[in-house]
Amino acid sequence: MTTEGATSTERDRWYVPAWLDVPGLPAFEVIDTRSAQGRLDRRPKTVTVADLVLFHGHACDGLLRGVWAMRALADVAFGTAPFDRSDLMVVSKNSPCLGDVAAYLTGGRARFGTHRLDDSLGVGFQIEVLSTGAAWEVREEPGFFPAHIAAWEAALLADDLDAADKAELLAVHEAAQWDWVREALLPSAPAEYYRVARLDGLDRLELPPALLQARRTDTVNRGVGVPVEAMSPYDPDLDAPGPHPRVTDPWVERYAAGPTGADPTGRA
Ligand SMILES: [Zn+2]
Repeated sequence: MTTEGATSTERDRWYVPAWLDVPGLPAFEVIDTRSAQGRLDRRPKTVTVADLVLFHGHACDGLLRGVWAMRALADVAFGTAPFDRSDLMVVSKNSPCLGDVAAYLTGGRARFGTHRLDDSLGVGFQIEVLSTGAAWEVREEPGFFPAHIAAWEAALLADDLDAADKAELLAVHEAAQWDWVREALLPSAPAEYYRVARLDGLDRLELPPALLQARRTDTVNRGVGVPVEAMSPYDPDLDAPGPHPRVTDPWVERYAAGPTGADPTGRA
């Protein structure tokens, strides 16, 4: 059991500004595998801007530019189909905000070599569908984001500003970023300033090197078929024939014998 404070049904979303917690913002459908060794579950889940803010840690202009860019790309690449987070490679700039959008929405992870980093992309992404090799790129139109704010972004990361001055300037800067989001980004359609191109003629995406790479085990069985006889009582296969009576289920007996045990089904 959890404590009462951890089980609120009405989420206190102070971290999403009220003017950003509105219907009509881009959202994303995603699908994943069912469990640690599971196959693909085709039931979609919806990721909202508020979910991305929670994952990333704060609402910011970079996160929203990433959302607009990814929505533009998805509209061209996937249409109404969900992001299959067990089957995507993503390339992004190594930015805190854009990198989080890339990882959360695509399932690409640096530790599995499926999230590669390329700062030359700027505000944009490349995505490759691993199973087919089909690839797309999206880039923000140059000049859409004000150069003045971009210059201050860099200046406020430097050490040469007086701390007291910086305290004032950070507040002015944050206001300038949000003014731009509200006046320029939110009223625009993702496709207006985020240009998508199909990366044709490439056998596979030309990828920057992986930082570190290990086998991702929870997507290995993504393509395994629906069971015909055995049913998981915890997450039933609604589209499978059955249920097969558990007591007489030879698959349960085979499982109980262990991976190297005798096979009561006689099929192995
Ligand atoms: Zn951010």
